[in-house]
Amino acid sequence: MRLLIANDDGVYSPGLLLLAEIAAKFGEVRIVAPDFEQSSMGQAITFSRPLSYRRVAIAHFDAYRVNGTPADCVAIGIHNWDKVDVVLSGINLGHNLGNSTWHSGTLAAAKQAALFGVRGIALSAPPIESVEAYGKIRPYVEEVLAQILAVRPAPLLVNVNFPAAPRGVAWTRLSIRHYDGKVVLAKDPMGRTIYWFTAVPIEQVEPDTDRAAIEAGLVSMTPLRLDLTDHATLAELGRR
Ligand code: MN
Repeated sequence: MRLLIANDDGVYSPGLLLLAEIAAKFGEVRIVAPDFEQSSMGQAITFSRPLSYRRVAIAHFDAYRVNGTPADCVAIGIHNWDKVDVVLSGINLGHNLGNSTWHSGTLAAAKQAALFGVRGIALSAPPIESVEAYGKIRPYVEEVLAQILAVRPAPLLVNVNFPAAPRGVAWTRLSIRHYDGKVVLAKDPMGRTIYWFTAVPIEQVEPDTDRAAIEAGLVSMTPLRLDLTDHATLAELGRR
């Protein structure tokens, strides 16, 4: 099995190194990741300038850095490696739950794989500073990958989030009733108003969602689809 590893935190992220180490137990691993952090870039692609693809030393891995977005990395990675079986994206330093998946570069890399017809799995966890800090999450990364790669029907796209100290795993749906994006005002040193568009904690989680799983100490696995069509509304409109 060929596993392509990407992320949005950049090629030197400890989360990416942990994911590559565990992925190597499942087959042949190659890393193709952005040379700078690309968090919250969503599924942007670079079309106004050419991209480079350069070998980089990441432990003993076959690794490359691209001066582009997570989606660029997956496109070039799949182009340069025959028969990629699955793209793993992460492990992101920070959760990607509910509506934040619209902004996530981590999930976008997995979605880019799905657009090419390749299975994509995005993985996110609380922020950490070194691979050693992943002690409690590490065994669950392997368990979750084994489970998702073996389960039938095989999901094309899965968004995985790990709590800090997992005690189990759960299949979930996206938490979409609440949105954690908020614009916060401040003043710059010259006294002018500036704005931070940031994420704020969400209360009152909906049952069976990714957010509820994390609060319960469970690894959340959400199968996603590329079809954004509102089928219920379409059927209703079609009847008229
Ligand atoms: Mn990130």
